[in-house]
Amino acid sequence: MKQYDYLIVGSGLFGSVFAYEAAQKGKKCLVLEKRSHTGGNVYCENTQGITVHKYGAHIFHTSNKRVWEYVNRFCEFNNFINSPIANYKGEIYNLPFNMNTFSKMFGVVTPEQARAVIESQRAEIKGEPKNLEEQAISLVGRDIYEKLIKGYTEKQWGKDCRDLPPFIIKRIPVRYTYNNNYFNDRYQGIPEGGYNRIIDKLLENAEVRLNTDFLSDKEGFLSLASKCVFTGTVDSYFGYSLGKLGYRSLRFESEILNIPDFQGVAVVNYNEREVPYTRIIEHKHFEFGTQPVTVITREYPESLKEGAQPYYPINDEENEKLYEKYSLLAKNEKNVIFGGRLGSYKYYDMDKCIEAALSLCEREL
Ligand code: FAD
Ligand code: UDP
Repeated sequence: MKQYDYLIVGSGLFGSVFAYEAAQKGKKCLVLEKRSHTGGNVYCENTQGITVHKYGAHIFHTSNKRVWEYVNRFCEFNNFINSPIANYKGEIYNLPFNMNTFSKMFGVVTPEQARAVIESQRAEIKGEPKNLEEQAISLVGRDIYEKLIKGYTEKQWGKDCRDLPPFIIKRIPVRYTYNNNYFNDRYQGIPEGGYNRIIDKLLENAEVRLNTDFLSDKEGFLSLASKCVFTGTVDSYFGYSLGKLGYRSLRFESEILNIPDFQGVAVVNYNEREVPYTRIIEHKHFEFGTQPVTVITREYPESLKEGAQPYYPINDEENEKLYEKYSLLAKNEKNVIFGGRLGSYKYYDMDKCIEAALSLCEREL
């Protein structure tokens, strides 16, 4: 008999949902977390009464009723709707790409006029878009591509838009209505008091060891449990034996300002290449805060250096091919299940991550 039924590596949303569901079924779980706190990238800290999203803005949105009801069991969500602003050299545009954006960019008023401008600009793209640049121009035309997409994307990914896959830009809605909601999903909000409240409840019945890197004693940790759920990077699990998968990292710089409101909205994107950060988050707006001070965070994209967090999988062709090879190794790894954004090398939003964890629980528990 092993000491634990499951060893769970990583206390992010994926690992925590699995730990909760396993405990509900009477399973004994040990959760290892190499950071000094639980929650992975949804972790929040309280600064002067403001909930600060330590690893970048996290807005919960989903069309999956089951996932929405699931998260609402653990915490009440507010009615926050993400309506970010794009700042291109001091010119202000609404996002996502909608009639407000088109009106400001092209001087048009009606959807028909906006469509006519975009139709004429997208004519330069023949056939299926082969890369992000072609995809962007074919969705919104060259003007918007040049001002709002090219600089931001090349900063974010550290690559030319012609060397990036088309799907990344399809995350953002394009609509011919005056609607600044960044997401199309039916349900949206921020957990009141932050994501830790959800994570703490999910991990209530598990044993958690912080500051513990599974890779420091892989075989030793594996021997403690009958099975392992691994949510770290899949290439690290296999000692990078087939080569390193590409990840993009970020550096966050936060400041407390002695003013009640810095930018009047939670998220402002800085779209030109020359500004080194991609966005500034003003955290109090996520919960409609009225504190006398404010906390802002600048987000600087970076290549993945030793010791940095691998935030975004770079799902281009080369990395996808390498991931396919790792996924074969993963399938053959006895008693280890790989999951989450890092374990499955997928650009998952939180809802998709929870959905994947719940479907694993259905198969496994
Ligand atoms: P993670 O949160 O990465 O958790 C994995 C955990 O495993 C980490 O805590 C890590 O420290 C730990 N770990 C890794 N290796 C080891 C090891 N060897 N030993 C021990 N522990 C280990 N989604 C949305 O829906 N809306 C948003 O607005 C949104 N904004 C985002 C903004 C940013 C900047 C980023 C990076 C992501 C955003 N996401 C958003 C995505 C969201 O963060 C993820 O979907 C979700 O957090 C993934 O959870 P996870 O458990 O798979 O991974
Ligand atoms: N993007 C852009 N301009 C913007 C916002 C986003 O070109 O003002 C592009 C960029 O390539 C980014 C992608 O759209 O990586 C997806 O944007 P999203 O806001 O979903 O990024 P995330 O929140 O996942 O970082």
